Amino acid sequence: MKIDIRSLTVDENVTFKDAFKITSRTLRTAFVLDKNHRFCGIITDGDIRRALMTSAKMEDPIKNYYNRDPVFIKDGKLNKQDVNPEEVYIIPVLNTDDRVIDYKTPKDLRRVAFVSGITGQDGAYLAYFLVKKGYTVVGGYRRTSNCSFEKLKRLNILDKIRLENFDITDLSSIMRIIEKCEPREIYNLAAQTFVQISFDEPYSTSMYTGLSVINFLEAIRLTDPSIKFYQASSSEMFGNTDQPKQSENTVFRPASPYAVAKLFGHLSTKNYRNSYNMFCASGILFNHESPLRGLEFVTRKITYNAAQIKLGLSKELRIGNLKAKRDWGYAYDYVKSMWLMLQQDEPDDYVIGTGRAYSVEQFIQKTFEYLNLDYKKYLTIDETYFRPADIECLTSHPEKAIKKLGWNPDVTLLDKLIKIMVDADLDYLQNKSEVKVEN
Ligand code: NAP
Repeated sequence: MKIDIRSLTVDENVTFKDAFKITSRTLRTAFVLDKNHRFCGIITDGDIRRALMTSAKMEDPIKNYYNRDPVFIKDGKLNKQDVNPEEVYIIPVLNTDDRVIDYKTPKDLRRVAFVSGITGQDGAYLAYFLVKKGYTVVGGYRRTSNCSFEKLKRLNILDKIRLENFDITDLSSIMRIIEKCEPREIYNLAAQTFVQISFDEPYSTSMYTGLSVINFLEAIRLTDPSIKFYQASSSEMFGNTDQPKQSENTVFRPASPYAVAKLFGHLSTKNYRNSYNMFCASGILFNHESPLRGLEFVTRKITYNAAQIKLGLSKELRIGNLKAKRDWGYAYDYVKSMWLMLQQDEPDDYVIGTGRAYSVEQFIQKTFEYLNLDYKKYLTIDETYFRPADIECLTSHPEKAIKKLGWNPDVTLLDKLIKIMVDADLDYLQNKSEVKVEN
């Protein structure tokens, strides 16, 4: 059924539900209902409204365009006694002279965030953080034969999240979630994240970690360009840099298929910000770890194996390159920076790290020292873990994030991070799987 909204006559028999159906089919046009749910006007939202206000300089686009007076709810406040937030559709924001300065819809007032990669380390911590802030969190997961929500369970938040299946390579699945859940913020954390694997599977890594970012950007552009977008970029993009510390201005020299793919996603995020004026922010995060880090990653492999050795469950730790130096932080501190990036007035890129680098060998030594063990007795170098090209050292220069976001990189230093991870692994191996979040 095709409806020309300008010739539409609506009487009191039209219920909100009918109106809503028509609304969602007629792009960016909504009905204004008074507090008794009576129809009293039509308003265009988003692009059409902006175009009307700027090009025609109309004081009140609704009245001029539709020749109807909308009923305004003053101050843009939802007064729960008078209105039902599910049913009132448009809430104009008035200034002190009763002039309309903006419009809000209930979805602007609800804090809904879509987190892709909800089954991963950062997805779980970010969901925990957002739930605590009062958000409705929609978690995107891909259906696999052994789909696991273990990390969400370990943080005790599985029942507080709305789960939606999707795949980052499938544009329509992302658009479906946006249309169904109306998120105001989207955090794209999903990717093939293991650098070593990216050398074995360069094509699929390029697709999952790089190209798929376009699906998020396009889905937002096509459905609702006012949604704020966070892209999980990586310090691996700096590669074998000649700068002792890396900031937002350091030249990228990616040295793995993973890093090349991340750089594609990073530059695409920037491009949509500049080309379409969309709120697209990118966090260039240095390594961040936690008890929820995958066991294939070197830090967790160290803490888990050391805990096993302590409990007499293993006798050996097999590691590749001991000399690689990385700037390691605590994942929960880092997800806070993601949220901060989307609360700024303007979108931007930020380097997030502690500013200090340690070698893999130092990490091992500190871990074993914490358990009163001599690491040299248990360590075996295994060349099968060496990468075709490895990066010697990455160290962040997070000044911009400290100054602009108020982000604090000092909260969890390496010794404390190791304690958090080892204690949790000792618990885990003794069947206590719940993970405490250290603030
Ligand atoms: P992670 O634990 O490996 O999680 C990756 C997530 O991506 C998982 O939930 C995974 O789902 C999902 N995923 C992979 N392919 C998918 C697909 N085709 N469709 C839907 N979901 C898919 O990674 P993380 O440590 O949380 O990292 C989060 C993000 O930050 C990643 O983009 C990573 O590259 C980036 N990053 C991480 C670090 C770090 O130190 N942790 C540093 C810089 C940047 P499954 O459970 O189904 O596999």
